Amino acid sequence: MMDGILAMEGEGPGKSGKPRNIGIVLGSTDTMAIDFTVCSMLGIEPERLFTNQMAIEDGYEEDIKIEGDMPRITDFELPEIRTLVWGPEKFQGFVRRHIVQRPVCNDDMCRLCGECWRYCPAKAISHDKKRIHFDYDKCIRCYCCIEVCPHGALKAKETKAGMVMRRVLKV
Ligand code: SF4
Ligand code: SF4
Repeated sequence: MMDGILAMEGEGPGKSGKPRNIGIVLGSTDTMAIDFTVCSMLGIEPERLFTNQMAIEDGYEEDIKIEGDMPRITDFELPEIRTLVWGPEKFQGFVRRHIVQRPVCNDDMCRLCGECWRYCPAKAISHDKKRIHFDYDKCIRCYCCIEVCPHGALKAKETKAGMVMRRVLKV
């Protein structure tokens, strides 16, 4: 099932994105069919999503019959999609830990409410009396912290080194 009644566009999750009323619910016995259908609803090439790309490489063939109405949305604001790993395989551990985008905190907006460290599945967030701290070796980039932060203090940010390397490697 996919709930698209109130969707989010832009740089989500959490308060970094913008809620948008779409008013649909999708259901299928084939999870890939849902992902492919949402892509065509939004006018995105399915291969742009890594999971779809892997499914196609694994032999997934699109054979989707749609029952009900599917809106076509042409102005949906997409987040900038960054891959979590790239570059030569032997460097991917290093790239993932130090170079790909990561959650960062705007200390001026953080109220130390504790939601992020309570929900972080990797226990990668600690805090002192003034601010929170991330352990990027532990962080699995799930972005749950960004989603649960009630004050919009967190967002995903690419490191400067990552930006430079990605441009050089054209990924
Ligand atoms: S959830 Fe947001 S406001 Fe609360 S401690 Fe974490 S970053 Fe700060
Ligand atoms: S992205 Fe996920 S693993 Fe990383 S700090 Fe946030 S909640 Fe924890």
